[in-house]
Amino acid sequence: MKTVAFIGLGNMGGPMAANLVTAGFQVRGFDPQEAARQAAETHGVANCASAVEAARDADVVITMLPNGAIVKAVYGDGVLDSVKPGALFIDSSTIDVADARDVAHMVHDKGHRAVDAPVSGGIVGAHNATLTFMVGGSDEAFAAARPVLEAMGKTIVHCGESGTGQAVKMCNNMVLAVSMIAVSEAFVLAENLGVDPQVFFNVASTATASCWALNTNCPVPGPVPTSPANRDFQPGFAGALMSKDLGLAANAIAQTGTDAKMGSLAVEVYRAFAEGEGAGKDFSGIIESIRQGKV
Ligand code: NAD
Repeated sequence: MKTVAFIGLGNMGGPMAANLVTAGFQVRGFDPQEAARQAAETHGVANCASAVEAARDADVVITMLPNGAIVKAVYGDGVLDSVKPGALFIDSSTIDVADARDVAHMVHDKGHRAVDAPVSGGIVGAHNATLTFMVGGSDEAFAAARPVLEAMGKTIVHCGESGTGQAVKMCNNMVLAVSMIAVSEAFVLAENLGVDPQVFFNVASTATASCWALNTNCPVPGPVPTSPANRDFQPGFAGALMSKDLGLAANAIAQTGTDAKMGSLAVEVYRAFAEGEGAGKDFSGIIESIRQGKV
């Protein structure tokens, strides 16, 4: 049985660690928040007093942390020296592509293996073990990670070398942000022109405007009863998380010199949304800002 150290037992990490226990892994968890450790313990995750203790002689280390600086700090603080030789490091946090590549170098320098494996699917996917993992790393590291990731997800995609998992996730979310803004602007314009939103939806959702932002996460109440617009924009995918992911896109746009005007605009739009009343709302709540002329 493989021993897995799981570091970061928050909204995503807690249920992911529990699914590893269900799949038969021996899981040792750490989070600075006692409540998070205790919640994981009720699902069979051993409650460790530090990341180093969790990682001692582990075969696999999984991190699910808020940002790249924390991932680097955790790796650099003794964890890399505590594990079994050749251990596999899986970072599923959403972090900067450059940070993901730095982290992989840190791991490789100690003779271990690394993949970046950010996820989509949110908290529901974490609970139901239906996450999508976008994985960056060597063929060998990907093959080693696959059975571990399969215990927590449904779709596991090898994207290329280190950092490419983060790159794919970030590019996908940039499209999502731009498409949600475009869909919301179109609903408001249609309203202003006297069109019933349901009629616009009926046509656009089966025509060339069809996309996830419209067909599944529709920003007006009614056409898609399960979309957050029907429950006062409770997330879903919160504006604060969208803004965080777009901040990573902004870094990548600047570092690569990519001409991404729509993506860069979306960065600004969602930064303002998250700094205002949108932080805790679903990102489709951007339609309210557009309606009020606040974008
Ligand atoms: P969260 O804030 O609920 O959990 C993060 C956990 O990390 C917290 O429990 C915190 O105490 C812990 N932590 C902080 N510093 C630590 C340290 N030094 N050592 C160990 N643990 C530490 O966040 P989350 O929603 O679980 O998200 C985790 C990651 O997953 C983020 O990078 C986020 O962008 C990404 N993500 C989240 C979602 C989502 O829907 N929540 C979806 C996809 C990706």
